[in-house]
Amino acid sequence: METSVNLDFNEEEKKFRESIRQWMVENVPEDVRSCTARGAMPDKSMQQRWERLLGSKGWLTTTWPEQYGGPGWSATQRYIFDLERALAGAPPTSPFGVAMVGPVLYTFASEEQKERWLPGIQSGETLWCQGYSEPNAGSDLASLKTRATLNGDHYLVNGQKIWTTQAHWADMMFCLVRTDNTVKQQQGISFLLIDMKTPGLEVRPIYSIDGHHHLNEVYFTDVKVPVENLVGKEGMGWTIAKFLLTHERTTIAGVADIHHEINRLKSAMESLPTENERQQAQRRLASLEIDLMALEYTNFRTVAATDEGKPFGPESSGLKIKGTELQQRVSQAMVEIGGLMSLPWDNKQPIGDEVFNQASRRYNFLRACTIYGGSNEIQKNVLAKMLLGL
Ligand SMILES: Cc1cc2nc3c(=O)[nH]c(=O)nc-3n(C[C@H](O)[C@H](O)[C@H](O)COP(=O)(O)OP(=O)(O)OC[C@H]3O[C@@H](n4cnc5c(N)ncnc54)[C@H](O)[C@@H]3O)c2cc1C
Repeated sequence: METSVNLDFNEEEKKFRESIRQWMVENVPEDVRSCTARGAMPDKSMQQRWERLLGSKGWLTTTWPEQYGGPGWSATQRYIFDLERALAGAPPTSPFGVAMVGPVLYTFASEEQKERWLPGIQSGETLWCQGYSEPNAGSDLASLKTRATLNGDHYLVNGQKIWTTQAHWADMMFCLVRTDNTVKQQQGISFLLIDMKTPGLEVRPIYSIDGHHHLNEVYFTDVKVPVENLVGKEGMGWTIAKFLLTHERTTIAGVADIHHEINRLKSAMESLPTENERQQAQRRLASLEIDLMALEYTNFRTVAATDEGKPFGPESSGLKIKGTELQQRVSQAMVEIGGLMSLPWDNKQPIGDEVFNQASRRYNFLRACTIYGGSNEIQKNVLAKMLLGL
């Protein structure tokens, strides 16, 4: 695809950048900034407080079309906003409402559903989670078994989801369910919106390798879901799921946040005790920065293509692979450069720079980023199919 690439911001974009930078300096709450600076993750109340603040400015749903309350920014402006957000030390927004179910709703939902669900996402009031994966349906998502049976004016949902990020925070789940067993696997799937407080729905925690509780198992026993919570028609779930996954993959690349991570590493490196260690760390940093620049150019290509009204292509899979690999390499560099300072320090007095103290947690968490959002092996299959016709 021939696309002009904007490597230099024009005067208007530079002014926009300056105004966003200023706003971030004045408005990112100090506790949020210091949490991210340490490499820690905000808890629910901190995350929601930050998202409500963005929501009150109309800046939570920057990717949404104006008619649904987006600010009407170009893709370049959105990119600038995200970059300045990350450089100011503010966390990324939770993707499930804004980047995933929101676009599904304004694309596929009825007017009543849009009116009911979009405002809560826009303001940061309603938190969502994604109920796709099941114990035997991850990469092979189409084999999911959670069953929704029509019973008058509602569905009865039975089954299990797994790896459901933030299910313990969420008010609502968007969920893939099987409504028909008699047709081809993909055609029997539907897209339901489920209130997390419905009787029969149970959330059980999974503690991940970084020691935190992000993930859950969700069990459904005769969970009653009103028919008006079906998005699109019965059997349209697979079409919606594919649409949503493309949105998910572009956000997972995390270019803006890698900038912030590299800045954190740079400043922590100054605390290394010897000149020799600092020089070795500099060489490693240079290689990471070069790879970030390459990733950013690819990102600019998709930004420019979006500004020209072109649809996402295979780039979203490429960005997901390269972005997540780079996130892992930066976190690995942080652990290795920090050495003793980066050892897990629960129950011990930490030594040295706090950035290094948190590094092993982050390193451990990021082992998962090449798996979630469709594993990188699956992305390579997507690329092979789309680019090579294999
Ligand atoms: C931290 C984290 C957060 C997550 N959050 C959510 C969430 O909020 N909601 C949700 O629904 N899911 C979530 N997931 C689940 C995630 O989408 C799945 O883990 C992922 O799709 C892989 O599925 P699986 O775990 O069943 O592994 P499997 O599909 O069993 O894959 C196992 C391995 O085999 C490889 N493999 C499988 N099939 C192929 C193939 N055809 N070709 C080549 N290699 C293949 C995979 O790449 C992987 O390495 C999350 C996962 C993690 C780790």
